[in-house]
Amino acid sequence: MIKVTLVGTGGMVPLPGRYLASCHIEYQGKALLIDCGEGTQISLHKGKISLNKIDTILITHCHADHVTGLPGLLLTMGNHGRTEPLNIVAPRGSSRILNSLLLVCGFLPFQVIISELHDTKPQEFDLIGLNIKSIPLRHHINCLGYSLELVLRPHFQPDKAKKYNIPVKLWRLLHGGQEVVVDDRTITPDMVLGEPRKPIKISYVTDTRPVKLIDEIVKDSDLFICEGMYGNDEMHEGAVAKMHMIFSEAANIALNAGVKELWLTHFSPSMPNPEEYKDSAANIFANTVIGKDLMSKTLKSD
Ligand SMILES: [Zn+2]
Ligand SMILES: [Zn+2]
Repeated sequence: MIKVTLVGTGGMVPLPGRYLASCHIEYQGKALLIDCGEGTQISLHKGKISLNKIDTILITHCHADHVTGLPGLLLTMGNHGRTEPLNIVAPRGSSRILNSLLLVCGFLPFQVIISELHDTKPQEFDLIGLNIKSIPLRHHINCLGYSLELVLRPHFQPDKAKKYNIPVKLWRLLHGGQEVVVDDRTITPDMVLGEPRKPIKISYVTDTRPVKLIDEIVKDSDLFICEGMYGNDEMHEGAVAKMHMIFSEAANIALNAGVKELWLTHFSPSMPNPEEYKDSAANIFANTVIGKDLMSKTLKSD
């Protein structure tokens, strides 16, 4: 079970009731934050989201609307007595910027570990029990898109286990992928497990022009969270110049990648009511939702 909350849905400039880009993802009592724009800690507080559970902050890129919430958030974590190290994962070249930004924090009672990811090729790693992939995007500076997958083991099938007279105490080992020996016979996991299961997948893409790698990382997502900087198709030229996307571009990615649901976020301050433009996306990809601060969803396995 993974809980996803949009913490902030603004791009560039916060508006009353709309903080800047951030997304909170919780799984089994631990959490990741993607981006930390201005106001993130206020929105987390409003949503009663615990800061203690945040294990890692994934940064898409070091533009102000994605990182300036960091010093305040980290200071508050310190005031709450955090001693656990905090990981920050960001694209290549970010450490210098992030370290400078965090200078204003002075002393923090916990370690901040900054790691950099490739900016030219995809990368894969694990965090809080989820498999994370990053890809380079096309923006003014190094910027990454992420996907997060919960890999699900096939269901254990007791009927089959009983047929082979496997003692119940060995079931857990088989379900975990180990072979066991019963009456001199080797039982392999595939003999007692069901069909492979599709992982639960979330993808997060902002700020960028559409690039081919996005289709791959977004493919078959249960939830695709994507920037929709501008709603109106007439803003296409402006979006190209500013290296952002319009609603219809995000919707086309969702359609081609076969996702279940699209959430739009990172709205331009020139668009205080993005709902007005919903049809630009929904006419292409019907299951489009216009993001709002503190909107959340729990994704469950079947
Ligand atoms: Zn941005
Ligand atoms: Zn940006």
